[in-house]
Amino acid sequence: MDSSLVQVNPLLLPLNKEKTVYDGFITVEEQDFRMRILLPPDRQLKQAKLHCSWQLKHLLHGYEHIVKQRLQQSTDLVSFILELKTVLEVGLKSRPECSSIPPPRYYSQLISEMETLGWDTLLFIDTEFRTLRLKAEDSSGRQHILTIKLKSKHPAEAPECSADLPVPLAITWTPQSTLEQLHKQFVLVLESLTEFWDVLDELDSQTWILEPEKPTWSDTMRRITIGNNVSIKVEVNPRHPKMLPECCLLGAEHVVTPLRNKLNANMHLWNPNFSVLHNLRDVLEIKFPSPATHEKSGFSADCGICYSYHLEAAIPDQVCNDPRCGQPFHQACLYEWLRALPSSRQSFNIVFGECPYCSKPITVKMLAKKS
Ligand SMILES: [Zn+2]
Ligand SMILES: [Zn+2]
Repeated sequence: MDSSLVQVNPLLLPLNKEKTVYDGFITVEEQDFRMRILLPPDRQLKQAKLHCSWQLKHLLHGYEHIVKQRLQQSTDLVSFILELKTVLEVGLKSRPECSSIPPPRYYSQLISEMETLGWDTLLFIDTEFRTLRLKAEDSSGRQHILTIKLKSKHPAEAPECSADLPVPLAITWTPQSTLEQLHKQFVLVLESLTEFWDVLDELDSQTWILEPEKPTWSDTMRRITIGNNVSIKVEVNPRHPKMLPECCLLGAEHVVTPLRNKLNANMHLWNPNFSVLHNLRDVLEIKFPSPATHEKSGFSADCGICYSYHLEAAIPDQVCNDPRCGQPFHQACLYEWLRALPSSRQSFNIVFGECPYCSKPITVKMLAKKS
């Protein structure tokens, strides 16, 4: 009988010669649940007592009568264990959350790892002790957060890590890895990006940024005010932050064209030893309005159709090309306005019409359909 118990459920073993006490685990769907079976001296199952771990109890909740019935009817321990396994399989399927409850050693492992790392690093832990947020500081004193989702087989299985970064977070994990090592890797990733954030910090503090309004650590784009309704959109490469970024000038044609010509003519002057702001000033031959010299309200002009600045995520980036007008509009507002006028005409995805302010010719691209 016992040899077949080893085959059916190898982790449950007799503790004494009389084989009246069995202790160990019952294994269902590759998960082990702690249990102990006490049999009377005659080893009759009818009189047997089951001691279950709280996980097992939780899983058997609602099936207690079936377990009792099986104890009464089973002829030997092996057939009872087999029946119990069937009940547990049903229980696991109906309560999928049970399958994710980690074994007790998970918690002791987590606590010892946190002790090595330092509890002051922990910003947050959820009630199930599965999601952690750790803080980290780069050498320039910027605060960062590493979010870790631990697997129930931690540390055998690699945790899921995420952070607000402009590059994918690549983490090396082995079953011997610890949270402390993970944190160290994260700090190294932060160090590799300090030059990138230095470049953007300079832009954020010394120019008027139109977009994004509240940049996060992962934002690589900045739309910088050059003048009234004129701006430059730069896309900084996180790996090579001081190289010439992708640039796009936005505004009325008569203002943008000379700037674009300067950019093309002076591109060779770009010096990667200097910051992006320094280079942009040299290449465009301009001074950017800054919080020290100008008010932002002078640049963030509202849309001439809806009279607001923000339209969902959009800002007024369509500008009348007439030098005396220069009125900005939201693309959506201008498109709807022109389309409604009988004097407008549409060719492919461009609508040609008149500026609602100065009646000079104005064009707008049809908005890309939202999928
Ligand atoms: Zn508008
Ligand atoms: Zn106009």
